[in-house]
Amino acid sequence: MSIFEYFLVFLIFNSFLFMIVRYIDQVQKESKRVLEFQANHDQLTALPNRYYLEMCFPLWQERIGDRYSVFYLDMDNFKIINDRYGHSVGDAILVELARRLQSSCPEDTIVVRQGGDEFIMLAPYCDIKKLHQFAEIIISQLNKTIRIESLEFSLSGSIGVAISDRHNHALGELLQKADLAMYEAKRARSGFAFFSDKLQQISNERAFIEGALRNAMTNNQMYMVYQPQIHAESGLVVGVEALIRWIHPLRGMVPPDRFIPVAESSGQINAIGDFVIDTSFREISEIHSSYRSLRISVNVSVRQLLNEQFQSYLNSKSTEYGISPTNIVIEITESLFIEDLEQIYNLLMQIRNNGYNISLDDFGTGYSSLNVLRKLPINEIKVDKSFVHDILIDSQDNALIRSIIGIGRSLNIPTLAEGVEELEQVLSLKTYGCELFQGYFFAKPMNIENLKNYLIHFTPYEYQTSQEIVDD
Ligand code: C2E
Ligand code: CA
Ligand code: CA
Repeated sequence: MSIFEYFLVFLIFNSFLFMIVRYIDQVQKESKRVLEFQANHDQLTALPNRYYLEMCFPLWQERIGDRYSVFYLDMDNFKIINDRYGHSVGDAILVELARRLQSSCPEDTIVVRQGGDEFIMLAPYCDIKKLHQFAEIIISQLNKTIRIESLEFSLSGSIGVAISDRHNHALGELLQKADLAMYEAKRARSGFAFFSDKLQQISNERAFIEGALRNAMTNNQMYMVYQPQIHAESGLVVGVEALIRWIHPLRGMVPPDRFIPVAESSGQINAIGDFVIDTSFREISEIHSSYRSLRISVNVSVRQLLNEQFQSYLNSKSTEYGISPTNIVIEITESLFIEDLEQIYNLLMQIRNNGYNISLDDFGTGYSSLNVLRKLPINEIKVDKSFVHDILIDSQDNALIRSIIGIGRSLNIPTLAEGVEELEQVLSLKTYGCELFQGYFFAKPMNIENLKNYLIHFTPYEYQTSQEIVDD
């Protein structure tokens, strides 16, 4: 071979080597890119994930500046879809939601799947009007029907919005604020809510209550009071509603309206509910020998009802204290029916089949429809005190209460009016056909000792003159 030929072979060999090296390099780059994408993106929806957000946020912020906003979106009742239709349907819905979110986001907006049915969006502006518009666009996208195979879904979500200000917020802090606002949007069912200092205060208060509740039962800070329920026709006491009281060593009396919702969301409601059942059954059993048919009504919240141990606990306490289920009323509220109606129906049916009574509390304030009333095994409708309060002055409330009592009568379900404070209310309610009364006009809630006294000196009500109010 001539030197030229040698050179040619050398050149070909080197080019070949170069091409191989380049090819390997490309393959490596590509697989690195794929790996990076997988690490930074959610596998299901292909949206960026939380890791990506943390990584790219500093660069994004450098470009956008301090004026940006964080949106935290959580779908409403998504668990029901997974439970009822399976995870593959749930997944398909999430993919479609992600597509809609991404296509409705303007340029420079980051959309991230936080996990489950939660998404985060970073919008590059702070203008309130623009933020309102953006939130409304997202909500309308969520509300549009989603078709998966032959199924149709119409969904909703709750969005919390937190706005960055010139103090150069940390991303984590803004996310927390947006999360808090999201819970407010869920609570108020308003679609979206903006973070505010007021919300922060409420959240701090909740955190305080949650902490203080942990010691409340072990330190004997809780006790029960009982409010008599009066039969309209005979004027006799037919039962009592058990209501919980909490005296905090520094705060004094904390009303149940304030701590029960916290206990519900923190999971402490089950222990409190057990305390209520155990204490009230025990105390009421002490007076059962003299007031054989006295009913005891206890308030039971959704979480408690859904707790697997609830029914066996109820049965064991009813047996232990010798109170027949027919003398026990479980008061449930309408907020229950936002949850899975079928599951609730089955649970209530079991409770009814065991002989207990069920009362629908706060009727008229929530979502109850005739359908719910017809479907559920209800023994009593409790008309909310807000209607009773204005019955004499507000013609609308008056008409409403009449129709509620009328519905009860046509379905053969007795109505109990709560919050009755005046004789005139008693007389009107009685003519409308209301069967049971409860309220300050008759008696305030009282502890067991006062209840015993009240019953010893009791004479049936006659509604001719104003009765004296018995104090706590
Ligand atoms: P609720 O079940 O609707 O209870 C009736 C509330 O109205 C009670 O307030 C009672 O004291 C009050 N009330 C009774 N008569 C009158 C009246 O004539 N006028 C007015 N203005 N109010 C009257 P309370 O005891 O503060 O309870 C508030 C709510 O807290 C209850 O509403 C119930 O939802 C919840 N709660 C109370 N005790 C328990 C409990 O043991 N377990 C659960 N899960 N919730 C409870
Ligand atoms: Ca009640
Ligand atoms: Ca009520």
